[in-house]
Amino acid sequence: MPGIGRKSAQRLAIFILKSKDGYADKLVDAIVSIKANTTFCKKCHNISEHEECNICSDPKRDASKICVVEDIVDVMAIEGSREYRGLYHVLGGVISPLGGVSAGDLKITSLMERISFENISEVLLALNLSTEGEATMIYLSQMLHDKNVEVTPHSPRRTTGLSPGVCGPDDYWQGYRCPVEDMKIIEQYYWC
Ligand SMILES: [Zn+2]
Repeated sequence: MPGIGRKSAQRLAIFILKSKDGYADKLVDAIVSIKANTTFCKKCHNISEHEECNICSDPKRDASKICVVEDIVDVMAIEGSREYRGLYHVLGGVISPLGGVSAGDLKITSLMERISFENISEVLLALNLSTEGEATMIYLSQMLHDKNVEVTPHSPRRTTGLSPGVCGPDDYWQGYRCPVEDMKIIEQYYWC
């Protein structure tokens, strides 16, 4: 399983072996239930129990912003900050020629459809700062160039040039406006 090495697996196995009667059965039932009752949001591709996830269907969220992330765990991490109030779009990976992942394998078409048909004014590109992640952000920036949205790409140079609280709402860096609140979240998530 991702994130669980041999030692961790051994500890979990010993914990289950030592558990009270019925614990293992409840654990199995819970895993089966999660698999049976969980799907993916038809809009943002986040994990969900319904057609639309709790974030997309929450009227209190700022529906003018979309934060584009690589994976569901990125949504969980940013949500953990409890500061970002916009929507998300989970790409399901990044473009990786060596890994056999092309743009057509990602949820890019549905992202463009959302931008065309929803009232989106700002797109935050918050992909991981790997070579593939940066290449994917450049690709998306080019695709969004002629759309009527403000694109805020995440850049390693940007994070070394600015730190949380340094920039003001009217500050510019590398030609991009610094969205102070969102900037803090993304920096906390990746570097703090
Ligand atoms: Zn959703």
